Amino acid sequence: MTFLKHLTYTSTIILLALSLSLAAKTEQVITFDDGKAHYILEVMKHITWPNEIEITHFNIAILGNDNNLFNALNNKLTQKIRNKSLSVKQFSSLNQAKGNFEVVVVSKKKLPFLNNISKRFPRALIVSNGTIDRESIMVALMAHRKTIKLSVNRENLIKHGFIISNNLLDFAGTKADLKGQLDEREIRLSQVLKEVGTQEEHLKKLNQSLTSSQHELSQIQSKLALQNKQLEITQVQVSSLQNSEKAIQTKLMIQQENLINQKKLIAAKQEDIRMQELALQQLQTKLIKLNENIGQAENKLKQQVTQLSQQSSIIELKEEKINDQRQLLIITIAGVFILLLIKFMVIRISNVRKQANDELAHLNEQLYELATTDDMTKLFNRRHFLELAQRELNQLHRANNMAVILMIDIDHFKNVNDNHGHAAGDEAITNIANILTGDLRDYDIVGRVGGEEFAMFLPNSNVEIAHQIAERVRLKVAESTTLYQQTSIKLTVSIGLTARLEDENDIGNMINRADKALYKAKNSGRNSVAFF
Ligand code: GH3
Ligand code: MG
Ligand code: MG
Repeated sequence: MTFLKHLTYTSTIILLALSLSLAAKTEQVITFDDGKAHYILEVMKHITWPNEIEITHFNIAILGNDNNLFNALNNKLTQKIRNKSLSVKQFSSLNQAKGNFEVVVVSKKKLPFLNNISKRFPRALIVSNGTIDRESIMVALMAHRKTIKLSVNRENLIKHGFIISNNLLDFAGTKADLKGQLDEREIRLSQVLKEVGTQEEHLKKLNQSLTSSQHELSQIQSKLALQNKQLEITQVQVSSLQNSEKAIQTKLMIQQENLINQKKLIAAKQEDIRMQELALQQLQTKLIKLNENIGQAENKLKQQVTQLSQQSSIIELKEEKINDQRQLLIITIAGVFILLLIKFMVIRISNVRKQANDELAHLNEQLYELATTDDMTKLFNRRHFLELAQRELNQLHRANNMAVILMIDIDHFKNVNDNHGHAAGDEAITNIANILTGDLRDYDIVGRVGGEEFAMFLPNSNVEIAHQIAERVRLKVAESTTLYQQTSIKLTVSIGLTARLEDENDIGNMINRADKALYKAKNSGRNSVAFF
């Protein structure tokens, strides 16, 4: 503390003198703050910043409102310091002072916070105003009865890397301070001189010992040269030995690696062997169990063999039974087969018989048809007509009902055969037979009773109805034409008819009377109907 105070140089300049000198130049009224501003800039001119190379522009901050100083500095900002421009800003508190500043002017009010300000701006030149703590500040401008007192804390400046010009030191230092410093330096110098004297004596002694040592040194150097040569030879030997050692080491490393690998393999194989031993133990355990199981199984097998022999004797007995049953079964199957065969034969015979019966019935039908039907006209033949007519007449007789019989004969039929041939005659007979059947009731009976003669038996009919039927037949025949081989054949028929007499039951009598009526019709010129 006292040391720092001793190192502080102060200078007192009478403001009046400053005012006079400035007024002489500018012819203006110089204020107290103008003087402070002037000194701040003068100090800046005589101080080099530790980071001077980086500084392109001097930023001046005023902490605490000091409008007069701010205005005074602002008026002087047109000038440059070492070709660097200037600017000034004013902040009411430390917190507001954002940015970097090369000069920080601290007002009286902010002095209590000087330590914080120094920490906040470690590379700035701190300029304080008023009563100051000498340890913290670098430059102080103190007003004392209209006098500006400039105080530079050199130690602090140097500690922070600032370089101060000799002119500033002269300007800012007092004679007393300088004398004190000079005295201090003289004391130091005399001490140094004493030290130099003792050192010189020591040096002389050292020189003497050095000359004796130099001789020894030359001897030692010659010895050393010899030893150097030997050393070189030894070094060559050592280098060859080192090479061989390296080769051996390399081999050794390879063998060590091999050894490690083999150890690993051995470890792996030991592990395998251990695993196999374990597996072997498990297998042995299993084997023991299996042996036990085999023993149990053998016992069981013996029991089963005994059971099996018992069962085989039972089976033999059963097989005998089965053989007996099998023989019985074969006999039964054979019997069933024979029965089935017989049944099959019976069915087949019955089928054959049924077929033969059917054929027989068919033949009988054919035979009946042949026996009862005229093959050419498909009308009943004479015999069957007489049978049917007689049967009907018998029934009529029981009921005493009416009946009429007609005899129809083709006129001059012999001429057809003669003129057109027998086949043409057959065709004409068939044609007239079809005309006769076309007009019949279900219960009327018609038949071919001669070569070109037909008979009709009409049950439940009387002479009038029969006459009408006969006339209709006669007209149809007369109007019809038989075509044979592009020849038209015209024919007529003569019809004789008679009614059943009371209690009459002989068809022959009725036919006789009808024949007589037919004869009458022939005689009356043919193509006519006659009644008996
Ligand atoms: P009428 O008018 O008097 O009855 O003269 P008609 O010629 O018919 O009578 P006649 O009895 O003289 O002749 C019957 C002829 O009919 C004789 C015979 O040759 C012929 N005739 C008889 N049956 C058949 C036959 O089945 N087919 C053919 N083609 N002719 C037959
Ligand atoms: Mg005739
Ligand atoms: Mg005739």
